[in-house]
Amino acid sequence: MRIKHIECEVINIPLKTPFITALRRVESVAFVRVIIRSDDWSFGIGEAPATQAITGEDIPIILNSIESVKDMFLGSTPKEAVKLLHTGCRMGSSAKAALDMAFVTLMAKAEDKELHEFLGTASPQTLYTDITISLKESLVMFEDAKKAIENGLHILKVKLGKDINHAIEVIQNIGSKLPQAKIIVDANQAWSLEDSLIFIDGIKNVKIELIEQPVIASDLDSLKTITDYSSIPILADEAVFTLTDVKKVIESKSADMINIKLMKCGGITKAVEILEYCRENNVKCMLGSMLEGPYSINAALHLALAYTDVIKYIDLDSPLLYKEPSDELDFEFDGCAVQLII
Ligand SMILES: [Mg+2]
Repeated sequence: MRIKHIECEVINIPLKTPFITALRRVESVAFVRVIIRSDDWSFGIGEAPATQAITGEDIPIILNSIESVKDMFLGSTPKEAVKLLHTGCRMGSSAKAALDMAFVTLMAKAEDKELHEFLGTASPQTLYTDITISLKESLVMFEDAKKAIENGLHILKVKLGKDINHAIEVIQNIGSKLPQAKIIVDANQAWSLEDSLIFIDGIKNVKIELIEQPVIASDLDSLKTITDYSSIPILADEAVFTLTDVKKVIESKSADMINIKLMKCGGITKAVEILEYCRENNVKCMLGSMLEGPYSINAALHLALAYTDVIKYIDLDSPLLYKEPSDELDFEFDGCAVQLII
């Protein structure tokens, strides 16, 4: 199988309601889709969303990155293309992820396998994703959480901002009034070290699963102080993009867990390297995503199926936020349960 043609298109999927975190507010998912065709009429699809606040890439940057390198892959096998991509291309991690997932999909097709099979499991299990509760006024967030639980979505990723009193109030409200909720807190780097400790003390009576990236990504010292102080697991997200970042955080014990995203690490190939390291070192992970299109969510879910021993939390709720259901998913979402469509 050899690569014959690579093309890109820009797609916009409207959301039911705006998605709001400490870093950004968006009303639709905008992404670049790359379609790679081979000489045996197979194709692989990859996608990269614009998340400039996180990866530094907007739509024109992603398009430009892919357009400027695509000709060098023509005539290669998908395996050769992956190697070339990760050794010879300088570009942002999202553009790289889109190309990587399309190439890896083709590698699986060359072996006549489904992606999850190619990545290591033949017996797909049911997965459970969280659902994002966007950063809003405290009572509105409580109502959103209540509505989510009524819709069968009990794993809540609650987005909090820099007002620490608001953050404590939101979690106290949800924790005391919605006992079925599994609460994941995501501060998206909004807090100082002091705020983080105040928050931990302020929600002591509430059972929460973990606290994600409380402080700015570059401040590993504060992250470590928080991890040492907290009995709640601390998860590094924006602080870890690559395997090198992951090793640094884990070896220094700066966080208990890490959030792997295809768009941060540069695709399936790189995520596998991180997952193998975590498997070896007994580090549990979250497999997360940005707000993404259906094919990159497919890729992440196939990967999740192959690493259920390492991935403890799945944050792949983008399809639940689309205004209209997508018919491009390999998976069916029923509440928080996610099942492969066979
Ligand atoms: Mg996060």
